[in-house]
Amino acid sequence: RLYNEVQELKGNIRVYCRIRPFLTGENQKLTTIDYIGENGELVLVNPSKQGKDGRKMFKFNKVYGPAATQEEVFLDTQPLIRSVLDGYNVCIFAYGQTGSGKTYTMNCPCFDVHTLGIVNTSQPNGLAVPEASMYPVQSTSDVMDLMQTGLTNRAMSATALNERSSRSHSIVTIHVQGVDLKTGATLHGSLHLVDLAGSERVDHSQVTGDRLKEAQHINKSLSALGDVIFALSQKSGHVPYRNSKLTQVLQSSLGGHAKTLMFVQINPDAGSYSETLSTLKFAERVS
Ligand code: ADP
Ligand code: MG
Repeated sequence: RLYNEVQELKGNIRVYCRIRPFLTGENQKLTTIDYIGENGELVLVNPSKQGKDGRKMFKFNKVYGPAATQEEVFLDTQPLIRSVLDGYNVCIFAYGQTGSGKTYTMNCPCFDVHTLGIVNTSQPNGLAVPEASMYPVQSTSDVMDLMQTGLTNRAMSATALNERSSRSHSIVTIHVQGVDLKTGATLHGSLHLVDLAGSERVDHSQVTGDRLKEAQHINKSLSALGDVIFALSQKSGHVPYRNSKLTQVLQSSLGGHAKTLMFVQINPDAGSYSETLSTLKFAERVS
């Protein structure tokens, strides 16, 4: 079963939707989620529109409802993660508005490098980000320490963490070098874990200066990412990698033999309806 699943994922772009549970203080009586099907169907309902007109169906490779556990996500993504050991480049994204569970999903134990049985990595793969650094690691705890450092660097201060993380992309890349036990050939694989900046639309009348520039950058890079994944899903001859820094950085891990998985994160509450709809529309285009 594992083998078949890996085969099935080869060269594929998968889109999984995850709905986070209600948080305390949110009105549980008002949700936008009307139906979750076993085969990846999701029906969204517009809380201010009664009847059929207010319903829209979306289809994903998989939908995780609010009760889904991290273990479930862990089991489902194992074959994909393990293919890094076979020399694949794997890219996992979390897309969605701030507060929709992106970081929660990306901190899933499935992305704990434990599952890769990492021993040592030190291979640079042409780093395109000036501020990025590469460290050799010996053990899983080394990697966990590094990820913690990354998280700390991302934050200007504890209270600003949410602010910062909603306005920056976080990319953790793990390079893995392995040996094909049959042929003795060296295999290079990589795993990119990408916690994207919040996808919420910023009201341009409310922000100016650097904030406005920042918002425009985020919008530009997220839509450039959407364009790249769309072109790949269409098997288009031209893939517009060069339209943003984000897609340039990830170019070697998107397309070709790479495997891409996008977690589309949504909120269940009625107040998030318009952001949820725009998130699902983004996802619909790339899946
Ligand atoms: P984002 O990174 O998209 O801004 P977070 O991952 O920080 O969102 O999630 C927002 C809040 O919701 C956090 O308090 C987080 O713990 C909680 N949360 C998100 N997803 C889940 C989930 N599947 N189960 C339980 N709590 C969740
Ligand atoms: Mg976050």
